[in-house]
Order: sequence, then structure tokens, then C-alpha cells
Amino acid sequence: MTHDVIAKLKQQAVTHDGEDTLADYIDQFIIPNNTIYLDGNSLGPSSKAAKKRAEEVVNQQWGQSLIAGWNDHDWIELPQKIGNKLAPIIGAEPYSVVACDSISVNLFKLLGAAFSKQFPRRIILSQIDNFPSDLYMIQGFETLLNQCSEQGNSCEMQSVATSEVEDTIKRLGEQIAVLVLTQVNYKTGYIFDIEKITQLAHKYGILVIWDLAHSAGILPLSLAEHNVDFAVGCTYKYLNGGPGSPAFVYVAPKHLEDINQPLSGWMGHKNAFAFEPDYQKAPIIEQMLCGTPSVISMSVLDAALDVYEHMDMHALRAKSVALNGFFQHCVEQLFAQAEHSQLELACEAEATKRGSQIAFKHPQAYAICQALISEGVIVDFRAPDILRIGFSPLYLSFAGILEAAQCLVNIVTSKRYELAEFQRKHKVT
Ligand SMILES: *Cc1c(COP(=O)(O)O)cnc(C)c1O
Repeated sequence: MTHDVIAKLKQQAVTHDGEDTLADYIDQFIIPNNTIYLDGNSLGPSSKAAKKRAEEVVNQQWGQSLIAGWNDHDWIELPQKIGNKLAPIIGAEPYSVVACDSISVNLFKLLGAAFSKQFPRRIILSQIDNFPSDLYMIQGFETLLNQCSEQGNSCEMQSVATSEVEDTIKRLGEQIAVLVLTQVNYKTGYIFDIEKITQLAHKYGILVIWDLAHSAGILPLSLAEHNVDFAVGCTYKYLNGGPGSPAFVYVAPKHLEDINQPLSGWMGHKNAFAFEPDYQKAPIIEQMLCGTPSVISMSVLDAALDVYEHMDMHALRAKSVALNGFFQHCVEQLFAQAEHSQLELACEAEATKRGSQIAFKHPQAYAICQALISEGVIVDFRAPDILRIGFSPLYLSFAGILEAAQCLVNIVTSKRYELAEFQRKHKVT
């Protein structure tokens, strides 16, 4: 019986792989042998182009050109150059995106820029299940403003359940200054409708900052068309820029003139190398920069993004949904053969309704994750009890997805995760 089920799933995998129009991309990536990498939503793998650029930037550019590299290799232009490569991927206008810093830091800049335009409104609305760093940054901003104001109530963060966001916008309306939302929830994969929420917020004059950490490079996005005010996103997840690669900031061109971001460093000055004592912001998107760009990281990211040059984002999303749905189907079919399933789905039930990930809840999620990794199936764990599996379509095959599902079901039904070696916690999870 089990044998029949597996044979049928194998046949389905072969059919899907045969029809996969993105299959050739896998050659551009470096995936270790015997590894099925289902964690590209946390850290994308390296690519041949990224590796080549890393060697070139260290050996030739930095090694040989030294400080002349800033001009000879256009290092200083990297934040803007990368921004212009990112713009079509997220449906943004040219010269509306720059690469710099981390999402957290960029969020602070945007909070300052947006909030100060909205006086006397004082509420920043977010979702309670937002990525914690986003909430921490809003809290830091709130504390700073309140400690510096006489009444101590200049700014108030309110965070509500994802399901309450729309009602809260309607209820608080013009009291809300800024709305900060992550489009794709990092645990559940829930997807906000950017167009709908932005439109609703604008009805009340609310400015919206979107966090695109789990959207950029995997979902078709249309920031310009959907009238988005501001956005941040990272490049080390689906965009494969490398560990800690620079994040990006988007500012709608119409806002560039009358915003002021608080981290007004020299790279955002309109004439950085004039060394003037007074800050004057650049009139262009570079005003979002702060300090010196991390050239090695930026260079690697610049090369990594070439994979996206002619990418059809709708085809990418279609494969992502297909992989995601196939994994779920395999797990369900294989568990149906076992006595009982012990994994509870902890995300939207349909692959079309979630980001490129699936999440299961299990009290031993951490140990299951470790057991999978020991067999070359790389997934991740999110405290306290979520096993998160990501599908990055450029280097995954349906055959690999079936293998990973079989491995997961074997580990859960055999309880191999109970072995002591899988119970030990690492620092980064
Ligand atoms: C990964 C992630 C971040 C990361 O923020 P950094 O400051 O770049 O480390 C932020 N927000 C969300 C929603 C994320 O998933």
C-alpha cells in the first residue's frame, strides 16, 4: 500500500519536473551534495556568479586597486546600482530603491521620515505577530520620542492581530499616523493584500510602510502601481545575496522631496565629499543612505541579482505554489499510511494563500528540525514549536520535495527525533 502511494508520488514528481520551465536555473547555484535546501527563505544559497564576484572583489578590486577602487570599480555607486536591479523585481520606479543597512535600521529611518510628516497624529499601528525586530524598532522610536517630549505621549504603538488590522484602521482612522505591516507573515505565511490595505489606509491619510522580507524575490509585486508609500526588504532570503547582505529601502518618488529621515549620515548628504558642517539631504533616493556602504557584501549581492535579470515573477510564483502544494500533498499522503499524523498545519491551508513556506506545529519541532538537517534536509525552527519549510523555486525540483517529505514523515513516525543528539539547542535557530 505504502509502496503504491510512493510510486504514484514519484510519478507525479517526474511529471512536474518535466514541465518545469525554471529547471535550468539550478545550474547557477551552489548547493552542497546530498542536500535538499528548504531554508532559502532564511538564507539563500550562494551562486556561481556570487562566488566569482566575491573572489574578484577581494583579490583584484580591493587587493590591487586599494582606495582607488571607490572610483575605479564604482564602489560608491553600488547602493543605487543594486537599487535599480531590485526595482523591477518589486515593481518599483527606477531610482526609487537603494540598498543599505539592515531592515531594522531602514525601518527606523522610514518611521522617522513618515511619522514626522503626520503631526499631530501619534499612533503607529502594527500587527502583534509582526517579525519581532519590526516591533522592537517601533518601540525604540516610541521611547525616544516620548522621553524627549514634555507630555511623554508623542507617539504610541498599537499592535493588533492580523485579522483586526482592517477594522482598526477604520475605527481609529485619522488618529493613525503610520501603518507598519509585513506582507508575508514569517511564521504562518499569511499574505496581506498590499493594494487593498494601502488603499484603505490612504482613505484616512495614513502612510504605510511595508516590510517585504518574505515577499521580495518570490512574489510578483507592484509597488508603483499599488501606490505604496514606503517599503523595506532584505536580500539574504529569497534574493540569495549572502549572509547579512544589505537590505533595501523603497520611497515613492512623490515623497522624496518632503521627508526627512533621522539617520542623516554623510552618504545621504547632497554633497557627501564637500564635508560641510550642516546636513542637507540629497534630493534623490540616496537620502536614505547613512554611512559607508559595505562594498564586499554589496558586490556579492550585485552579482547574485543577475539571476533575476529576465525573471518572470509570475512563473516563479507559480512554481513556488506548485512545490509548496506538492510538499503538503506528499506529507498528507504519506501520513495517511502511518497510524496517525502528529504534525499540525500551522499556516494557511492552501498553498495559493500563503507565502513560499509551510509551517507545522509540534512540541518537538526543534528536535525534528535537527533530525532532518542530519539527513541533509535543511529546514528551520521558529520558537516555540514551529517547523518552517521554505520553497525557493530556482534550485528545487519536485523529486527533491518528495524525498524531503518522505524524510520528514519517517522521522516523525519513527520518533527518531527523540535521540539526545537532536535535543541540544544551538545559538542560532
Ligand atoms: C528576516 C526579517 C527581518 C530581518 O531584519 P534585519 O534587520 O535585516 O535583520 C525583518 N523583518 C522580517 C519580517 C523578516 O522576516
